[in-house]
Amino acid sequence: MPFPEHSIPTPNHDATREHERLGVCFHHSAETFADSLAILTDPARKVSYHCLIDLDGARATLVADAHIAWHAGVSSFHGRERCNDFLLGCSFAGNTWHAPLTDAQIASALEWVAPRWTRYGWTLAWMTDHRQIAPQRKDDLNPVEWERLRAALAARFVP
Ligand SMILES: [Zn+2]
Repeated sequence: MPFPEHSIPTPNHDATREHERLGVCFHHSAETFADSLAILTDPARKVSYHCLIDLDGARATLVADAHIAWHAGVSSFHGRERCNDFLLGCSFAGNTWHAPLTDAQIASALEWVAPRWTRYGWTLAWMTDHRQIAPQRKDDLNPVEWERLRAALAARFVP
C-alpha cells in the first residue's frame, strides 16, 4: 500500500544548474518530522532534502529531482566533491543513534526510490549516506541502520 506523499516546496534549493541525479545520499534529520520541516522550509537555514520520511512512512517532497537540494555540504563520493550536484538527498526523521529506522520508513524509502531507480539508471554503488561522504564531520546514518537500509535496497532492486 502506498505511503502518503505531500509536496512541501522550500526555497532552499538551487534551480540554476543541472542536477545530475546519479544516486542518493541518505540522512537522518535528528529532529521530529514537524521540527525538521520547519527547519527545511526556513530560508535562513539554507538546508533541504529532496524527501523527508516520517516514522510512519509518510513522505514530504521538498525539492524537485531536477533541482539541487542542500543536504550534503562538504563531501566526496566516487572521487568527486560537492555531492549536492549529483546525489539526491533523502532523509529519515529521527536519530538513528537513538532509535532504529522503522520498518515503515524503510518501506517508504524503497517506494520513493523505485520509480527513480529505473528512470535514472541507479545502481547500489551509487547509494550512500552522509557519514560515508563526509567522514569525521557527519555521523548519519548509524552504520547498523545503513546496513539494514542497504540490504533492503539490494533485496528489492538488485537482481
Ligand atoms: Zn545528513
